[in-house]
Amino acid sequence: ATPTALMVGTGRSAKMGILIKNGEILEEINQIKAIAFDKTGTITQGKPEVTDIYGDQKTVLSLAAGLEQYSEHPLAQAIVKKAQSLQIEPAAIQNFQNIEGKGVKGVYRKKIVSLGNAKLTDEFEISVELSEQYHRYQDQAKTVAILAWGQKVIGLIAIQDTPKSSAKAAISALKSRGLQTVMITGDNQKVANQIAKQVGIDKVVAEVLPENKAMEVKHLQVNGAKVAFVGDGINDAPALSVADIGIAMGSGTDIAIEAGDIVLVKNDLQDVVRSLELSRKIVKRIK
Ligand code: ADP
Ligand code: MG
Repeated sequence: ATPTALMVGTGRSAKMGILIKNGEILEEINQIKAIAFDKTGTITQGKPEVTDIYGDQKTVLSLAAGLEQYSEHPLAQAIVKKAQSLQIEPAAIQNFQNIEGKGVKGVYRKKIVSLGNAKLTDEFEISVELSEQYHRYQDQAKTVAILAWGQKVIGLIAIQDTPKSSAKAAISALKSRGLQTVMITGDNQKVANQIAKQVGIDKVVAEVLPENKAMEVKHLQVNGAKVAFVGDGINDAPALSVADIGIAMGSGTDIAIEAGDIVLVKNDLQDVVRSLELSRKIVKRIK
């Protein structure tokens, strides 16, 4: 490939909102066998909203907001916002702790209060009623934050983040080009399966801890298969680097944008397909 031709190609794509940071990768795009996506903020809009609260609303939201006001997780913002909209004061929590990939915890009236996924709240007592409700929410593709105080689960907060409007058509276009599509997420298996089904993704790897996302990309690179990864979060940066082609969402964190080879300014998943088309044209012109 001549550097000038690559530069022309990347200049034109920039006008479309596809920033190709490194022209050398264009030839590799044509050899991609699988494309893996982060879920939150990549496949979904990344604007989670609280849809249901189970348990005593005031108690649940007060404790939850008391914890989440110290967290920067998108789920935390949704919970804090919900409490504010209902004018529920956050409880005064002590010893706040963030537990990466699981949730948050702290102390309230001398007992530990925890909020997060089942990995965090596994050891606590839960009633049949709450447990059934937990599964119902997940079947509705809602992420559930489980609230425990002391040894007992006392409430559930269901949070929904809907797929981007561009997701389904983009996935279908990628599949028709013979690519395997994969979702790699920290979220619960059931919720991940539901979202994947909604947009047509073939394979789901769920409940992945942030430090293991890159390893999951490596698993897809068996026998030298070229793999692209699309993501937006801080915890996506290692996976973006390990992938043969890293595609970052323009709305993503600076760290993700830095790690990507391509940046999609418009956050439109159809631009993943356009990137493939474009590189095919450019490489053909060069050869
Ligand atoms: P992802 O962004 O793919 O969901 P994370 O590693 O950020 O991955 O989070 C994994 C899971 O851990 C979340 O889906 C959620 O269940 C739980 N979690 C993480 N942080 C929080 C938080 N601040 N509040 C509630 N749950 C959380
Ligand atoms: Mg994300």
